[in-house]
Amino acid sequence: MLPFFLFIKMHNNFVSIYKNHIAIIGAGISGLTLGIVLKKEKIPCVIFEKFSSISEYGAGISISRNGQKVLKELKVLDELKLVSGNPKKANFIYANNEITSLDIDHITTSRKALHKVLLEKYLSANGEINFNFELTDIDINNKLLSFSNNKNFNVGHIAACDGIKSICRKSVLENKSKPSYSGYSVWRSIINEKQNEVEFHLGPCFHVVTYPINSSKMSFVAAFKSHKASIESWKSKGSFNDLQKLLPKYILEKYSSLKNNDELYKWGVYIREDVDTLYMKNITFLGDAAHPIVPFMGQGGCLALEDGYIFGNLVAKYKNDIKKSQLLYKDLRFNRVKKIHRESLKQGKLNHLKNPVLIFIRNSLMKYTNIIHIMTKKIWDYDSKDIINKVIN
Ligand SMILES: Cc1cc2nc3c(=O)[nH]c(=O)nc-3n(C[C@H](O)[C@H](O)[C@H](O)COP(=O)(O)OP(=O)(O)OC[C@H]3O[C@@H](n4cnc5c(N)ncnc54)[C@H](O)[C@@H]3O)c2cc1C
Repeated sequence: MLPFFLFIKMHNNFVSIYKNHIAIIGAGISGLTLGIVLKKEKIPCVIFEKFSSISEYGAGISISRNGQKVLKELKVLDELKLVSGNPKKANFIYANNEITSLDIDHITTSRKALHKVLLEKYLSANGEINFNFELTDIDINNKLLSFSNNKNFNVGHIAACDGIKSICRKSVLENKSKPSYSGYSVWRSIINEKQNEVEFHLGPCFHVVTYPINSSKMSFVAAFKSHKASIESWKSKGSFNDLQKLLPKYILEKYSSLKNNDELYKWGVYIREDVDTLYMKNITFLGDAAHPIVPFMGQGGCLALEDGYIFGNLVAKYKNDIKKSQLLYKDLRFNRVKKIHRESLKQGKLNHLKNPVLIFIRNSLMKYTNIIHIMTKKIWDYDSKDIINKVIN
């Protein structure tokens, strides 16, 4: 415990220019979405981002219609569509034979393109963003933020949008903070090949997803079950030679330009056991900082969009009552994110089956029933605008 006089002195080192602002930690998908909504509603806010710019390693992202509904409300959907892939079919393949195909209405794009439209929208609304501000500590009771560049601020409220390795969570929820390795690792790359549809290759203990990110490039993602925690760094470069040992020949031949691709990244997929906390005192958690999920239903980014949109609108409605916004945010979001968290884990198991009998049953269900449609409909039909309108009108 610090002596009282020392505490007063430290307190005085905190600059007050943002003391009525919502401080958004992290300029990722959830942070920028929240920033855009708050600026539109004229709620003072500021974003702090640890990097010097928004940089995204070669990777794609697919956005189902629930995420697109938010992008439409943010007025960036049409612009994003112009530079993205708009596949109309997803084909499911096992051992090089098609099992079934599904009509879809996804946008598949590069993360860079998504971040660019969000950042430009925020900046065009005179949104303030401080790059090179890495949050290192929070005094949650006094709403004080400390950064690695020795700048310190007191703020009105803290929106934790700082992703899976959230320092916000670590600072205030010490024992619940640590993400753990999910048992899956993922290889990702952007390759210079044209493809119009989404392809899912299911195989024993692996699956590969490919989709167009624009008119000339595509995203390649290969996921594996792997218990070798030692090789699972957060994110590192991988080599084609290593990938070759993990995938069947027909896939490597189909995506032949992987061979000469230098930009092949290997990720350990991290999660938390369960979704537990969406807010605490003066801090609210959004996106991966609140609920990191395995990526097997392609919903992490979509949930980050929904979180930012819904929390932003609640704050705008209950301007002087942040507690009420937090309570409603939890009521509206908790069950949904928990359900998708659970279903994504289940989907991971289904995608990586090894037992031939179970594989046969899975493939038959996919081929002869509309199970994929049933599993995805509720998730994709979610309309954040309707949800918020029902609450605030
Ligand atoms: C392999 C893989 C494939 C995926 N595919 C899809 C997909 O197809 N569709 C989909 O919807 N989702 C997908 N996801 C999930 C999606 O990428 C995430 O859920 C989404 O990026 C989360 O957004 P966020 O805003 O919460 O966090 P992030 O996008 O991680 O942003 C966090 C931001 O906070 C900043 N930050 C971190 N720490 C600090 C700090 N201390 N101080 C200041 N700033 C900080 C970071 O630099 C970053 O800018 C996938 C994930 C993986 C791993």
